[in-house]
Formats: sequence, C-alpha cells, structure tokens
Amino acid sequence: MSDPLSLSFPSVRVHLEERSYDIELGTGNLSRIGDFLSSFHDVGHVVVLTDQNVERPYAEMVAESLSAKNMMLDVLVVEPGEESKSIETASLIWEKMLELGADRKTVMMAVGGGVVGDLAGFIAATYVRGLRFYQVPTTLLAQVDSSVGGKVGINLSGGKNLVGAFHQPLGVLIDTKTLETLDDDQYRAGLGEVVKYAVSLAPSLFALLEHNVEAILRRDHGLLSEIITRCCRLKADIVEADEYETSGLRAKLNYGHTFAHAYETISGYGSLLHGIAVAIGCVDAAKLARKMGRVDQSFVERQVEINQKFGLPIHFAVNHPDEVIQIMMHDKKTTHGSLRLVLPTAIGECELVKDVPVELIREVVKEG
Ligand code: NAD
Repeated sequence: MSDPLSLSFPSVRVHLEERSYDIELGTGNLSRIGDFLSSFHDVGHVVVLTDQNVERPYAEMVAESLSAKNMMLDVLVVEPGEESKSIETASLIWEKMLELGADRKTVMMAVGGGVVGDLAGFIAATYVRGLRFYQVPTTLLAQVDSSVGGKVGINLSGGKNLVGAFHQPLGVLIDTKTLETLDDDQYRAGLGEVVKYAVSLAPSLFALLEHNVEAILRRDHGLLSEIITRCCRLKADIVEADEYETSGLRAKLNYGHTFAHAYETISGYGSLLHGIAVAIGCVDAAKLARKMGRVDQSFVERQVEINQKFGLPIHFAVNHPDEVIQIMMHDKKTTHGSLRLVLPTAIGECELVKDVPVELIREVVKEG
C-alpha cells in the first residue's frame, strides 16, 4: 500500500523545447527531493537558498535528502521578506558563491516563497552567466504562480522586479504539506491568486472553488493538489505560448494586477500582501468591465462573493485616486500613455483591452 503522506499526483510538464521541465506535485514528497535531483545529469554541487522561516524544517529536510545521495551541499539563509530581493543581498550571495567554489555544475535551489524563488533564480541566471536552477516553492502563492514560468529578478528602490531575466528551472517540486505551517494571511494571499486564475481563465476551477470553500480553508491536501495542479497547468499553457511576453498572451495572467500594483505601491511594499492586493484588484477590474459594458452586474457580484467566501477583501480605501492613476500609467502594460488592462468578458474569460478610459478607472477607485 502506498504511504498516504507520499501521494504523488500527475506532474505538470512545461513544454519549452530544450528548456522543458516537470512540476512534481505531492504530499510529503519533499523528503524525496534527492531522488528527483539525482535524475539530472552531472549534479555535483547544490547551493540551497532559503529564508530564516523556511530553513527549519524544510531546507533541513532537503539537505538531508540531498546528502543521502552524496551531493555536495551548501545552504545560504537570507532574511524573510521583500527586502531580501535587493542588489545588496544578490551581491553578498554572488561573493559567497565564489567562496564556495560554485561553478557551472552547481545547481542553485530555491526552498521558500516567491522572494527566495525570484532571488535564487536571479543568482542562477547571472552567476558565471548561468547556473541550473531548481525550485521548491513553500507558499501557496509560489506554488500556483511564481515558481512557474521562469521570471526571476530583484527589486530596485524605484520599483518591484525591475531587474531580472527569464531563466527556466530544471524542475519544480511542490509538497502540499509545507502549506500546513503557512500563516493564515499568507495562505489567503495565495488564494487571491487562485481566485484570479479561476475568474479570468477557468470556469471549472471557479466551480471547484465555489463548491469546496470549507475544505479549501481547512487546507485539505487532496483539494490543494487538484487546485495547484490546475493553476500550474493554466500558467504553463500560457507560458508555453508566450514564454518571453512578446505576444500579449502572458499579460492575461495579470487580471487584477494593474490595480493591485498601484495599491501595493501606495501602501509601501510589504504592508499589503501581493495576493491580497490582487484579490481587491480583481473586484475593481470586474467593476471597470461592467462600467465599460463588457460584463453585467451579476459578474461583479460573483467576483465579490467568491472573495468574501475565502475571507478576501473587496475594497481598498484610496485618499487620492489620481495617485493610483499615475502609478498605473507607469505599469508595464501601459504604452504611450494609453492604459491597457486585462478585463473579463465572462467567468473564465478575459482579454487585454487597450485605451481604457481613465475617467472610468477614477470612478472605480473613488467608489472603493
Ligand atoms: P515570501 O517569499 O515573502 O513568503 C511569505 C512569508 O512566508 C515569508 O515570511 C516566508 O518566510 C514565509 N514562508 C514561506 N514558506 C513558508 C511555510 N511553508 N511555512 C511558514 N512560513 C513560510 O512571499 P510569497 O508570497 O511567496 O512571494 C512573493 C514574491 O513573489 C514577491 O516578491 C513577488 O514579486 C514574487 N512573484 C514572482 C512571480 C514570478 O513569476 N516570478 C509571480 C508572482 C509573485
């Protein structure tokens, strides 16, 4: 009989020619990371990057499993939080990699949330012009979103994720058991991204969420595995079609994000969790779409209701709406002063819309 804590679900394959990889999903599979990694050619040395909250027990479990496969191993620990995605931390890690004798055979492994993943990936993309990279995401947000798709990077004082690269991992291992220790706010923030996928891309995921609220809130492993698999597949499909964000398709992953980024900037990075900001941004995008005649009021109500079912907020109080508009004007989706936003047409359908009237955005922001 199989060990119930080591249940493996079908892995998700991300098809990107020679950069293709598998996302291995399971419950209790972290202790088998050594088996997964040893299936890759010529892994002599692994540098695990983690943060102080994740080091024990997860990075330690990883270290144990890799050591059992006789892999040479170093563990680097950064402080938790967005501040670690900085050029200062990156510079310390580059120097440390040199001290550790890291070379092109070294695999950089991220064990942690999106911060550790983005930072480790950035080091992997840049140190000696590129190391192999493996992701072990331990927050819900990282499992459904940031560990998939190859975007890596750090922040500048002037804005988030402004320096980075596309650097696909060798593979990703997701253990839903790691979510048991995540605090409620971080878990809810991850659900914000899950709701985003459902409303903008997947009516069947929307139905699954609507019908299983209680089990999802209690972090049922079977449901989480199903949800994470679906989200990874949705993101992988889009990344496969638009790996380098050139066709506009990848922008579809950003439903709610234009409002969210503005709210995160106004609050000061780190005080409003990204996934929570996205949840509010989705409501605002739904209201905007209604004002533009793209959806009816019942769509807005369904977006509001799904947020409320998962304890996600639906308002962000703004004192100066023009500040929001100004920040939006600097958004990556804005071209030559024309605001482009991802807006819904139905549950599970959205498109990138050009020339969105600023006056309607102002109304939505004012209404809160
Ligand atoms: P995070 O990495 O800061 O993790 C949140 C907190 O949870 C941290 O304090 C961390 O130490 C703690 N933590 C992590 N795993 C835990 C566990 N299993 N148990 C207990 N505590 C745990 O934040 P995040 O929400 O995972 O990621 C946010 C980052 O991801 C942002 O920097 C954002 O820009 C980035 N991001 C990147 C992409 C991408 O495509 N690369 C997409 C979305 C977000």
